[in-house]
Amino acid sequence: MGRGTRWQAAVVASLSVSGPFLGATAPIPEMAHGKSADEVVALTTSQNLLATDPTALRRFLQNARPAPVSSEDKARALTALPLEGAVTHLSASARQKLAALTTLLRATGREPVYEIKVIAVPQAGLALYARAVLLISEATLTLVDAEELQALLAHEVGHEYVWTERERSVNAGDHGRVKDLELMCDGIAIVMLQGLGMDASRLMSGLQRINRFNLERLGTANNESDYPTLAQRQVFARAMVARSAEATAEVPVDLDLRFTSHATLDAVELERTSETVQRLLTAAGVLSRWRDCSGAGCRADPGSAAIDVLLLPMTKLTERDVYGEVAHDAITGAPTVLIYVPPIADRVRAIRSSIDGRSNPALATMQTGHLVGAAIAHEVGHALGLRHGAQGVMKGRLTIDDALALRTSRLLFTSSEGATMRSTLRTARNSVAAAAR
Ligand SMILES: [Zn+2]
Repeated sequence: MGRGTRWQAAVVASLSVSGPFLGATAPIPEMAHGKSADEVVALTTSQNLLATDPTALRRFLQNARPAPVSSEDKARALTALPLEGAVTHLSASARQKLAALTTLLRATGREPVYEIKVIAVPQAGLALYARAVLLISEATLTLVDAEELQALLAHEVGHEYVWTERERSVNAGDHGRVKDLELMCDGIAIVMLQGLGMDASRLMSGLQRINRFNLERLGTANNESDYPTLAQRQVFARAMVARSAEATAEVPVDLDLRFTSHATLDAVELERTSETVQRLLTAAGVLSRWRDCSGAGCRADPGSAAIDVLLLPMTKLTERDVYGEVAHDAITGAPTVLIYVPPIADRVRAIRSSIDGRSNPALATMQTGHLVGAAIAHEVGHALGLRHGAQGVMKGRLTIDDALALRTSRLLFTSSEGATMRSTLRTARNSVAAAAR
């Protein structure tokens, strides 16, 4: 029996889906002491975790994070692992997925602690060995995407909170307890992911892929006696996500405006833009949220209808004086608002330097963001079913009087336009909700 075989035995025992290797040595400082009473949350059962106030739980997970293993223990853990079977040659995509783990490792204070090893074993899965070595099977890196890998890592970090309890339960042959601890690690992972603004549902999609793979290749989804079924995990995860989302819910909005600025406006102008769009929509009874989705993108908020807004650094080739338009996705029909920023900036400069502009302070102080905001509100109106009107925000051409009205908060949607937008959004939300059921 070579050392390679030891991988097999050890890994078959504990890698399936995920779970820590047994045999961690040193006892773990379970909890940081000296915390105020309201921060003490007992990690007892999965049902208890579900009943715990999510905000308190999130705070607790941060404050009572188990102290990392010492460098001596880590060195010992590394020597105990077999040398063969470690995969060092990784594809670019595998390396990218591993690099994506940095965010979560850093946020949980595990970046300098965990040694990551990719290993060649038949099954897919992750495991945390001796709280120091994160073992990831080669197959996992091809099966799951970067977000799912982060979510699975969050589950492993969750194991640290219940490490000794799990070892005790395994040694006592208490399979029911071991299963429940797995659910608790899912719950901890969900709270951690949501706290970092990550998509907690990716934990279940990652587990699903791993489960299916192991079932097809090895005929068994996981260590059945020590793991809850995927269905049990999904039910619990859904409840946990809902509970945690409920607690972190902001003021509910009707419309999620997700913008990408393409370097067209600086922060000050974007602030003016946001302020203008939201003021115009709020006056029409439409509560909106304005989110920068330029960098990594934004995840969808299932509670509200969304419109993407692209601020473009160009004029429309065919019609140079067009400020914006609505494009519809060919398949889903979902609207995207396109805004041509340069002609708007030109127009604002022209207004400011006009005779009216120079004599009227409201026009003399007009900035690009004001008109960009009005243009977005106008296009959002179109996206929500409005046509051009004789007056107000939906006028086809904006005159200098309209510009003055905009600057003095007199430019509005009409009340029937407001009613149409609200009814379109209600229908959209209902269909989103129906699709989610
Ligand atoms: Zn129009």
